[in-house]
Amino acid sequence: MSDFTLEISYLIASICYILGLKMMAGPKTARNGNLLAAFGMTLAIFTTIYLYQYENDEKEIIGLSNHIWIFSGIAVGAIIGWVAAVKVQMTAMPQMVSLFNGMGGACAALIALVEFPKALIHIQDPIWLEDHNAILYMSTILCGLVIGSTSFSGSMVAYLKLNGNLKKDIRLPFYNIINTLLIFGVVGLTICLAGNHIPTENFETWTYILLAGASLYGILFVLPIGGADMPVVISLLNSFTGMAAMFGGFMYDNMAMLTGGILVGSAGTILTVVMCKAMNRSLTNVIFGAFGTGGKAVSASSNGAAQKSYKETNASDLAVLLNYSQKVIIVPGYGLAVAQAQHVVHEMEELLSERDVEVKYAIHPVAGRMPGHMNVLLAESNVDYDKLVEMDDINAEFSTCDVVMVLGANDVVNPAAKEDPSSPIYGMPILNVEDAKTTIVNKRSMNVGYAGIDNDLFYRDKTNMLFGDAKKVLTEIVSELKNL
Ligand code: NDP
Repeated sequence: MSDFTLEISYLIASICYILGLKMMAGPKTARNGNLLAAFGMTLAIFTTIYLYQYENDEKEIIGLSNHIWIFSGIAVGAIIGWVAAVKVQMTAMPQMVSLFNGMGGACAALIALVEFPKALIHIQDPIWLEDHNAILYMSTILCGLVIGSTSFSGSMVAYLKLNGNLKKDIRLPFYNIINTLLIFGVVGLTICLAGNHIPTENFETWTYILLAGASLYGILFVLPIGGADMPVVISLLNSFTGMAAMFGGFMYDNMAMLTGGILVGSAGTILTVVMCKAMNRSLTNVIFGAFGTGGKAVSASSNGAAQKSYKETNASDLAVLLNYSQKVIIVPGYGLAVAQAQHVVHEMEELLSERDVEVKYAIHPVAGRMPGHMNVLLAESNVDYDKLVEMDDINAEFSTCDVVMVLGANDVVNPAAKEDPSSPIYGMPILNVEDAKTTIVNKRSMNVGYAGIDNDLFYRDKTNMLFGDAKKVLTEIVSELKNL
């Protein structure tokens, strides 16, 4: 009976994940979707704790008894997770996502390590072998170990990069050769271990070597990524964690873990493909690390930018210009999130709409520091979702608009992506803001963005720089507009 109830609870949990994921596709339903998926996960965890039964070494059917350990672990994890989620600044969210993603990978790898000694006993037991496929069983454990540890170490490097502790891309000499050899070594060793081609007494040593190799690959894989390519890597690591959890579910024959892992793995893979498209990279390039800036961050001053001239405007002139415009497109970027200017930008948009100015937001798929960052940011201030237009749809509209306001965005509007084959972001689709009659760029200085490269847009004839913190200048514009 408890088996049946457990399976039903897993079914309900899986339905919750699927519906929750579907609801997360839109900002209006995303919050409830998240709660629904969390409910499913809670149900799966508690039914497992109380209803799961297994056969012990004495062939007795028993349930889980180490409740104190389990609940202590849950309590520690829940408190840390809760406090981190409540305290995190919106701009630090990508780092937190990377960290939590890494924890998922670490869990999958630890599960594999814990199960490994049992697996060793099983594969030498002729009675066990009568009913089980040893290669399949070992492959499941080892894949969880390899993918989980790669995801963990890679996510930690991504965390350090996003947090600013690790400055951009570090590329070792012969990086591509080392990394390719390493990945072939890891795959080869996995096959040897799974196929039982290594003497059993050396199994444990080789498994730890495999763990070290996979962890090293995760580090080397993410370390050189720069030149604005991090979004692809982040979503790829996300899919790795999902896959690692999926192997855990397969190993334990646990449907809730299996469905959760498959959903995260496939959603992450789809996101990777979407991000690859957004960055104009092929997945093979990502996997074999054939991209990045090669360690060369180009600063505004180092490539002659200091000598170029640019025009400046101020909040009061801009308010007049906006007031008499018919169509305005706002391009939000990472700086808007840093300034926490989402509410005041919405206020400005409403003031302009009241004056019959058509206002839209142009959303670049990799603007900010995590996939969907700008959607989440603007949803926080209740910007009408219909006003958010994706890059492919809005690009044709720039030529029909009077003013484009680039607010704390840089790389996603850098024309070098279209014009300079030597640029590390060459080939990345960008927002064609220079097609508008006037382009206003708000940032605090002439400093570079995430990719570390100068932006020729700032020096173009139709561009006016509006220096200052985005929240401060937008507040000034709003007050000027109110006086007009
Ligand atoms: P960028 O990082 O290119 O530029 C942000 C700009 O905002 C900076 O040039 C900075 O200039 C300005 N800024 C910072 N603080 C403020 C502030 N308080 N007020 C006004 N301006 C400010 O951002 P984009 O959004 O254009 O591009 C995102 C980049 O991040 C891309 O290269 C992308 O690949 C990368 N990335 C994206 C991820 C994702 O999943 N979306 C993940 C990881 C990386 P200044 O200092 O002069 O003010």
